[in-house]
Amino acid sequence: MADDRFHVYDTTLRDGAQQEGLNLTVADKITVARQLDGLGVGFIEGGWPGANPKDTEFFRQARTGLDLKHAQLAAFGATRRPGVKAADDPLVAALRESGAPVVTLVAKSHDRHVELALRTTLQENLAMIRDTVSHLRAEGQRVFLDAEHFFDGYTSNPAYALEVLRTAAEAGADVIALCDTNGGMLPDELAEIVHEAVQTSARVGIHCHDDTGCAVANTLAAVKAGATHVQGCANGYGERSGNANLFTVVANLQLKRGFDLVPREALADMTRIAHAITEVTNVTPNSHAPYVGTSAFAHKAGLHASAIKVDPNLYQHIDPAAVGNDMRMLVSDMAGRASVELKGRELGYELTPDTTKTLVERVKDLESKGFTFEAADASFELLLRDTLHGSRRRHFEVESWRVIVERTKGGELVSEATVKLHAKGERIVATGEGNGPVNALDKAVRLGLEQLYPELAKLELVDYKVRILEGTHGTDAITRVLITSSDETSEWATVGVAENIIDASWQALEQAVTYGLLRAGRDVS
Ligand SMILES: [Zn+2]
Repeated sequence: MADDRFHVYDTTLRDGAQQEGLNLTVADKITVARQLDGLGVGFIEGGWPGANPKDTEFFRQARTGLDLKHAQLAAFGATRRPGVKAADDPLVAALRESGAPVVTLVAKSHDRHVELALRTTLQENLAMIRDTVSHLRAEGQRVFLDAEHFFDGYTSNPAYALEVLRTAAEAGADVIALCDTNGGMLPDELAEIVHEAVQTSARVGIHCHDDTGCAVANTLAAVKAGATHVQGCANGYGERSGNANLFTVVANLQLKRGFDLVPREALADMTRIAHAITEVTNVTPNSHAPYVGTSAFAHKAGLHASAIKVDPNLYQHIDPAAVGNDMRMLVSDMAGRASVELKGRELGYELTPDTTKTLVERVKDLESKGFTFEAADASFELLLRDTLHGSRRRHFEVESWRVIVERTKGGELVSEATVKLHAKGERIVATGEGNGPVNALDKAVRLGLEQLYPELAKLELVDYKVRILEGTHGTDAITRVLITSSDETSEWATVGVAENIIDASWQALEQAVTYGLLRAGRDVS
């Protein structure tokens, strides 16, 4: 179990799941919990049992099927209703019966919210906190308290907000997390209030929303002011502008402030974990995310490239390996020889000055025609290999391809593709059907080659992007297609450019398959 002196508390499965468009099944929640446990967080808030049937089921399944190594599960819920005993409140019973070792109770700490939203007296609100906390404690659970609207409440009535804190602590709550529920705070004023809260001698935590773009900064400011428990969500998920990004918070505290929060090997797996969670949530990963984004350590400018070659640390704030990310050189027409050379080295090739010169010229020429290698590493590597070998080398040659799109009598659209290829001395004719022409071509190629290269069965087309580029003076518009493919372990992107969208797609597809074969260890004989 993690050290209790400082808590990393994840609320992705409860607060993060409030994000617009994010919808997690019970199985999804279990998967996300495992990933977070792999990162080494101390607490995982699973949801609100009793109030939400899916969350009740999550805790039921977690009791038998979720073997957490680091984290403890926390059940979230409210203090008892006004005018009843905690022991008799069915929602409190659901928390008790969740089997979670920790219960996080949300309570009002803003006087106006007590009167207007809860419609009870300030005294009864304190009694609800006292009663519910001490009841759950007596039943053997550890209790944390989320003080909702704490900062706005403190501004409205500081004495009452602090009274909520004291009441909860005296009743046995281990941590009182101060919530910036509306997310409107800025770091300096927030830090002053945290400082006041810490004076009550209650153990203070922090829960921030990102409505001012300061959720992470506010969290760090709160820690500096004495908070020893940080809450946040994977990838900054959450309603409106999101919650504090727990990955950024953990990386900042551990790498910049010397906290020992998660195992070093787990931190070095954070980029993978962040992306694995996006697979479950189906939210497109933010490539610009601090630390874990694919662009977080990507460099473009040619001017910098020559210095990066000498010492990469001159242009990055940490070693990307610490969070499992990589420095990437973007190859673009802005870049000169140094970045092409560096990119070559990153891919494992030593380039002679002559090869570099030829390659830079080819990149510039192709980019002027609409290609982009910045987003298509695999296409760049194929170009580099062809330049090195002085010729185009492929595992298969294409004789021809054809696609037909048919609208059936029933109104269904079906595509059928035929490809004629040559590989390992054989002529292959294969046909594939798909819901679109590219899908049909993809199936036909793989069907044709799988006999010779069974590893192609693992290859998957995961993303397909089309962009229409304005033609230069007097020419037609051209189409650029980017295809992302994956095997079980990695992803790569290829690019094709043509006036015809299917032709552009075919180019990207052919390279995707070629690169997949190279990755699988198939050299060209
Ligand atoms: Zn919240």
